[in-house]
Amino acid sequence: MSAKPLTRDSLAALDAADPLARFGEMFELPEGVIYLDGNSLGALPKAAAERMQEVVNDEWGRGLIRSWNRRDWIGLPQRAGDKIARLIGAAPGEVVVADSTSVNLFKLLASALALRPGRTTILTEADNFPTDGYIIEGLLGMMGRPLDSIKYWDQGDAQDVISAIDEDTAVVALTHVNYKSGRIHDMAAITRAAHEAGALMLWDLCHSAGALPVELNECGVDFAVGCGYKYLNGGPGAPAFLYVAKRLQNDVAPPLSGWMGHAAPFAFDRDYRPAPGIARNLCGTPPVLSMACLDAALEIMLEADMSELRDKSLALSDAFLALVEQQCGGSGFKSIAPPPAQRGSHISLTHQHAYPVVQALTAAGVIGDFRTPDIMRFGFAPLYIRHVDIWDAVAILKDIMQSRAWDKPEFHQRSKVT
Ligand SMILES: *Cc1c(COP(=O)(O)O)cnc(C)c1O
Repeated sequence: MSAKPLTRDSLAALDAADPLARFGEMFELPEGVIYLDGNSLGALPKAAAERMQEVVNDEWGRGLIRSWNRRDWIGLPQRAGDKIARLIGAAPGEVVVADSTSVNLFKLLASALALRPGRTTILTEADNFPTDGYIIEGLLGMMGRPLDSIKYWDQGDAQDVISAIDEDTAVVALTHVNYKSGRIHDMAAITRAAHEAGALMLWDLCHSAGALPVELNECGVDFAVGCGYKYLNGGPGAPAFLYVAKRLQNDVAPPLSGWMGHAAPFAFDRDYRPAPGIARNLCGTPPVLSMACLDAALEIMLEADMSELRDKSLALSDAFLALVEQQCGGSGFKSIAPPPAQRGSHISLTHQHAYPVVQALTAAGVIGDFRTPDIMRFGFAPLYIRHVDIWDAVAILKDIMQSRAWDKPEFHQRSKVT
């Protein structure tokens, strides 16, 4: 961070030199909106909208059921999975697109527990995205295991989570980039420690895939899951993905043994026989429309250089932090952002009036989000956010604070989705 005050011109100069600038126009963003919520729902890629038209009108409308073969709908989970594999340091055949992150967590955690029969606990973090903890709770309940077989690591640094792994730990299940603080766990070190203790390692990549480099194979990771609708821009409720390391794939016994994971789905055999490889982790018929949309969005992501994405993401979040300090110092914002090397692609600020401030920002065209109890979260999707957007967003924030526009009664009304 430079000590010199930032100006709109200095940020415009960064945009002029931005190797990713050309991606901006590939997205549909409404006039007058600065979208700092791509970490929650990615923006609409124009190519995805075009692909949807084609899939609906041509592949479905004219092709009808023939398109399962002719347009290889049946191969979509693997085809899109192989694209995601390239973004997360996995090999072809190690990733499939299926279900939601929550369901994929259930499937892989159940498989992982079965691979460690003598061990009783799943280690996760109290601060994890809630669905991850809920799924662990439900799975252990279903298996008749006592509730204290979930071990919650609570705060501290990565070293602490490592010291909580012991000979009872069957699986360590962590989210790589924390959804609130944006802190990155040390994937290599924690995975190594889990393995040294004889446990399996599962990473949730919801806030990592498409936002920063991930090296699953290099880190020796066993299992991973992640989301299609955040940085991957697959659309609202887009299907999620799952990864199983090649070396484990044929030892995994899928708990949701649906026909799409059968070795020969169209043999209509009476008995279940899991498909070899990653395909056994599929369950039912793929949602072709939403999967095609995600697949088209992935094409764009694959054109971008991951290290350029990472550099730009940090430049954007650095500029944001510096500008909040420079323009809104004294307004009561506190950053809970980790230092750059441990920072994902979003920044969280705390503020006493976080909820109405986020509402007032949204009304003024700056879309971030609120996370209970007092967090304002701003995501910096490097494919379509410009450096000057950061300037303009903070200028609007400054105005809202100075005018107290956030204190209007309508901004205090809570909606169902926050
Ligand atoms: C977004 C997110 C999820 C979402 O799960 P869904 O099943 O898609 O609703 C799960 N875990 C983490 C860490 C997330 O950030």
